[in-house]
Amino acid sequence: MLYIKSFTFNPFQENTYLLYDEKGIGTLIDPGCFDLAERKELLDFLTQEKIRITQLLNTHCHIDHVLGNAWAKKTFGVDLLIHKEEVAVLKAVEVYAPNYGFVGYETSEADGYLTEGGEIKVGAEALKIIFVPGHAPGHIIFINHAEKYVIGGDCLFRESIGRTDLPGGDHQTLLDSIRAKMFTLPDDYVVYPGHGLETSIGYEKKNNPFLR
Ligand SMILES: [Zn+2]
Ligand SMILES: [Zn+2]
Repeated sequence: MLYIKSFTFNPFQENTYLLYDEKGIGTLIDPGCFDLAERKELLDFLTQEKIRITQLLNTHCHIDHVLGNAWAKKTFGVDLLIHKEEVAVLKAVEVYAPNYGFVGYETSEADGYLTEGGEIKVGAEALKIIFVPGHAPGHIIFINHAEKYVIGGDCLFRESIGRTDLPGGDHQTLLDSIRAKMFTLPDDYVVYPGHGLETSIGYEKKNNPFLR
C-alpha cells in the first residue's frame, strides 16, 4: 500500500503530494514549495518518516506546481518526469515567474516523458498515467487502481473544474477529458486535486455544476 501526504504550498495554495510505501520509498508530485519555510516543512516530514524520494512527477507545469522542481531535483538527485506537451508550458514559467513575484525562481528541465497508458512505479505499487488535456495541453493524472484514488492536478476540483483561459487551455476539451477519462472511473474513487479539498468521482458526478 501507499501512504499519501499532502502539503499546501505557495500563495496559489497548491497541493503538493508525496506518495510513499512502507519502506519509505517516495515519489513527489507537483512540488509547489518555494520559500525556505515550505521546503523545511517538506524536509522535516521526510526526515521524521524516514522517506527517500526517488522520483519527481508533474501533472502539468503551471507555475504553482513547479516552483520546487529545480530544488527537488538537486536536493534529492531525482529525475523530473512530465508529459511532452508540457515542455513549452514549463519553459514559459521562467519568463513570467518574476511578474508573479517569484524572484529567484530556478528553471528546471524534464529528464523524461510520461505517456498515456503507461505506468509509474512508486515503491512496490503502480500508478496508471492518463492524459487529461484541457486545463493544460499536456495534463496527466495518476491513478492508483489498487487503492482507488486519483492524483488529479487541476482538472477536477470539488464542485469546480480547472480554469481554461491560460495558454493551451480549452474549456470543451477539459469537459470532454473529464467525462471520458475520469467519470468512467467507479464512483468510490477519491480525487486528490491540485487545489482545495479531496472529493470523489461519485460526488462530482452528482454535484459538479460544470458537469451535471
Ligand atoms: Zn494549473
Ligand atoms: Zn494549480
